[in-house]
Amino acid sequence: MQKIYNLDCNDLSLYNDCEQIIHLEEFFSASHYNGCGEEKFIIEEGTIPIIVSAPHAVNHFRNGYIKSADVLTGGIARFLHCKTGCHIIYSSKYSKSDPNYDLPDSNPYQTSLLEYIIKHDIVFLLDLHGAAKTREYALEIGFSSSQPSFIQNTVKDNNPIRQNDYISIIKSVFHSFLSNSIIAEKNIWKQNTVTKYISYNARIACLQLEINRKYREPEKVYDFMSFVYGLLTAINECKKIAENKSV
Ligand SMILES: [Zn+2]
Repeated sequence: MQKIYNLDCNDLSLYNDCEQIIHLEEFFSASHYNGCGEEKFIIEEGTIPIIVSAPHAVNHFRNGYIKSADVLTGGIARFLHCKTGCHIIYSSKYSKSDPNYDLPDSNPYQTSLLEYIIKHDIVFLLDLHGAAKTREYALEIGFSSSQPSFIQNTVKDNNPIRQNDYISIIKSVFHSFLSNSIIAEKNIWKQNTVTKYISYNARIACLQLEINRKYREPEKVYDFMSFVYGLLTAINECKKIAENKSV
């Protein structure tokens, strides 16, 4: 496994990459995080069979309340698209909806994503979210119990892909700079999350990542970029099994 976390504070690319994410985030942070997109969400095409999603990149609405954006998940998703070639989908302006909660009959983010995944032979979805600083974990990996434990990749080929392989890769990457105890796993099955809807309907591996706010503070460049480079490495490692190359 490639290790990249011995970050050199004198390495200018570290600061350039951080600046790039801050710049990419401005699209979402405009108008107090109501975003400046013309459509509710945007999909950008990639070149690898993985899609990263950021449904809470801007403020959203659930059960009568406006909920704050998961700050920097949109900027990070756009950065990962630039660096890894993953496809991305993200909310781009506030509307009275929550793509990670609303039912499919009123959730075009989820239904369009499903259609896109099938059309583009995508085999792995990573859904990015934010968690409060008060949470005890640095990273929580969510999956849905509606998923069969053994995922058949019916789209690209007939080789089975285990969702647990992706979980192992992500844990392995982040264990190199986070302790075991602050990576949590959770079965998310109660609400209509993006992860649950796509895993059930597209039958591909889907994981929801909740990133603690402590690792979404660009002013702490080292911690922030360690986490972002962790995601970047995880996607590049996951790509190897997504494309059926040996790890
Ligand atoms: Zn969220």
